[in-house]
Parts: sequence; structure tokens; C-alpha cells
Amino acid sequence: NKFEQLGLNPSILKAVEDMGFTSPSEIQEKAIPVLLNEDTDMVALAQTGTGKTAAFGFPLIQKINVSKKHTQALILSPTRELCLQITNELKNYSKFEKGLNPVAIYGGASITEQSRQIERGAQIIVATPGRMQDMINRNLVDISKIEFCVLDEADEMLNMGFFEDIKAILSHTPKEKHTWLFSATMPKEVATIAKKFMRTPIEITV
Ligand code: AMP
Repeated sequence: NKFEQLGLNPSILKAVEDMGFTSPSEIQEKAIPVLLNEDTDMVALAQTGTGKTAAFGFPLIQKINVSKKHTQALILSPTRELCLQITNELKNYSKFEKGLNPVAIYGGASITEQSRQIERGAQIIVATPGRMQDMINRNLVDISKIEFCVLDEADEMLNMGFFEDIKAILSHTPKEKHTWLFSATMPKEVATIAKKFMRTPIEITV
């Protein structure tokens, strides 16, 4: 099993086996060892269906300190559907990791209930930009201590007009965090985000 050579911990390897993944996809093979072993920013060009969620999800789960309850990672994604899909995948990946709780934050659902989930402890928040910005404005969420920020489907988020929201959200995060940007394409706007908010990212293409 080639997953064993990527540096993943036993609880994730057990989840991999449970999900029936037999070998890592190209993006997983390229991104996972780098994200696990180097404290770096990353720009990855990858389409959906390439296994990109696990490419950032496995390293994220491994790097979260489960003994601490504060929010350590923020994943921004363009739609409610993707947000829920990523959250479910993360729950699957971390099912043998006690005490890790990814929470989904998206528009069109009760903000009170989402706020309650955050209060119970959300080391990883998976959010759409509009609702995230709303919850920051209402002081319902604290992302001032995150160590990792994932921008998933960055080109889609910018297409949907989330540039200002993303900028505002990132302004509430610490400078020292690491940012991992995933995008199917690299239009000028995505390059601008990378340049403005990332430090010498390692680039990966599949
Ligand atoms: P994604 O590109 O992250 O949306 O993943 C597409 C689908 O492929 C999801 O349903 C994953 O659960 C699945 N998947 C991800 N990595 C692997 C793998 N290494 N082997 C088999 N299926 C995978």
C-alpha cells in the first residue's frame, strides 16, 4: 500500500483502508509528503475528482492538535454543497482520531445552530465566504489563531464574486499561518490572491 510511504499516521491509514482507497492519486502523492514535512504555502492546480480533498485533508487532520479545542484551520469553499462534501470527507478521514470535530459553516441554514457547533469546539471550520464573513462580523467565530488556511476551488470562489469576502476573512487571520490554495485554473485573479496572501508557495500541477 503506497499510502504507507507518504508519512501518514496510523489512524489515517486505518481510515484509508476503511474507505477502500488502494493507492494515492497523483495530487495526493505529490502534495501529502510536502504538506506533512514542510511548513510551507502551496499552490496546487487540480480539477475536482482528482482526490484533492484528501490531498489537503489528510495533512490537515494530522497537523491539528486534538488536545486543543480552538479553531486551528479554516477551509474556504465556493458552495454549500462543496462545503458539506468536504466536511463529510474530513469526518470520514478522521473517524479514528478521537476529539477532532470539523464544522460546516454555510449560508441558507440556521446561524444559531452553526454558532452552537462552533462553541462546542471546531478545530477545523469548512466555510463558504459569505456566511463566514457574516459570522466574523457578529463575533460568533474566532479565527485569530488558525495555523492553516485552505482556499479550495479558488477560481470558482473568485468567479462567484467572493474576492472582497476572502480578503476581509484573511485579514482576521494571523500572518504566520500557512495557506494552501487549490484551483482548477490559474486566471489573473487567482495569481493575485496567491501573490498578495502567500509566501513563496510550492507549486504543484496534476
Ligand atoms: P475529490 O477530487 O477530492 O472531490 O475526490 C473525488 C472522489 O474520489 C471522492 O469521492 C473521494 O472519496 C475519492 N477518492 C479520493 N482519493 C482517492 C483514492 N486515493 N482512491 C480512491 N478514491 C479516492
